[in-house]
Amino acid sequence: PGTHTQSGIVEDCCCDYETVDHLNEEVLDPLLQELVKTPFFRYFKVKLWCDCPFWPDDGMCILRDCSVCECPEHEFPEPLKRPSSLGLSSDDLVCREGKPEAAVDRTLDTKTFRGWIEIDNPWTNDDETDNGEMTYVNLQLNPERYTGYTGPSPRRIWDAIYTENCHKYPSGEFCQEKKILYKLISGLHASISIHIAAGYLLDEATNLWGQNLTLLYDRVLRYPDRVSNLYFTFLFVLRAVTKAADYLEQAEYDTGNPEEDLKTQSLMRQLLYNPKIQAACPLPFDEAKLWKGQGGPELKQQIQRQFRNIRFPLKSFALMDCVGCEKCRLWGKLQVLGLGTALKILFSGDGQENLAERLQLQRNEVIALMNLLNRLSESVKFIHKVGPGPSISKTMG
Ligand code: FAD
Repeated sequence: PGTHTQSGIVEDCCCDYETVDHLNEEVLDPLLQELVKTPFFRYFKVKLWCDCPFWPDDGMCILRDCSVCECPEHEFPEPLKRPSSLGLSSDDLVCREGKPEAAVDRTLDTKTFRGWIEIDNPWTNDDETDNGEMTYVNLQLNPERYTGYTGPSPRRIWDAIYTENCHKYPSGEFCQEKKILYKLISGLHASISIHIAAGYLLDEATNLWGQNLTLLYDRVLRYPDRVSNLYFTFLFVLRAVTKAADYLEQAEYDTGNPEEDLKTQSLMRQLLYNPKIQAACPLPFDEAKLWKGQGGPELKQQIQRQFRNIRFPLKSFALMDCVGCEKCRLWGKLQVLGLGTALKILFSGDGQENLAERLQLQRNEVIALMNLLNRLSESVKFIHKVGPGPSISKTMG
């Protein structure tokens, strides 16, 4: 098997790379691959409109409806046709969402899908009030991969996410907690890049999809810190899932398909109380070490505020609402919600009380959490299989 360039203990974690790779391939990946296919975990409820509150001039978002809009050209408001003043050329105004690979497939399998009724699942409530705008999406029909979303629009969003969280703390001056937030975002960013490289449109004319290892090397493997951040994020989310084991085990996975729902419960149990995980990496991340120093509680509040800003400014996933490609927005929202859920599990209480009693998760949060863990697990598996970066660069020229 291939090995990436990293070895030793994952920074700020409690397990080494080799153990993580082994555990992932032997236990986590097979279970997660099955889990995300179950009816409970494959449907995600999401608002897919591109309602960007920050850059109303972003051409990507202005043209958000063009894959479905049947209104004639002349009905398009004039300002929307003009190229943006912020460095977006008229070429950038090509509707990405009109591309089949960027649009979300909204087909639902009516045999296995039932809408969420609150009384079905009293343990969860929807957190978005604008229910009318929410859509159910079958994630299995919408794999995260290359969509053609490039240029100034996504760059501006990544920059904003990093700046929002890290600008006050130039590198080298991070304290542990602040660094963690940066690493989580960087790890997620690396995972998204890996999925783009693993599922790349190699030839548009023949619709040929495959791996783009040059892209993988250029965006991720040649930066050891990005690989390290990916592993860190994976272990962080794994720790959140296993910490919430008692809560997640008691949760209701009813979708009206008894056979499938029993399978979901069984897979969850195998993941949550797996002796192999407990033996190999009992504490993937030690959150108890944090917030202990001077100013701990204030620092904790500050980080919580910052993270909410990626997730819910203006009561919504505000920055994700600026992602100008429908499918990227879907996975962006899901994964940011998943990270928010992991942070909520690990940091919302004072650590003294019984977690299963105080924790309250919404159904969508649990779906996001487990699907995020699966995305990260796939990324870790992919780069481990592909092998070390420098040799890729040689073979790819
Ligand atoms: P980008 O990936 O845009 O990176 C911008 C800059 O950030 C880099 O130049 C570098 O300085 C820094 N950077 C890059 N990676 C890291 C890291 N891991 N850690 C720290 N810093 C880093 N495109 C798709 O094809 N499919 C998708 O599903 C998809 N989903 C997206 C979801 C979101 C939320 C966003 C914001 C974008 C998404 N995109 C997606 C676009 C994709 O992430 C890239 O932005 C795009 O492919 C352009 O890549 P790039 O080479 O310009 O670098």
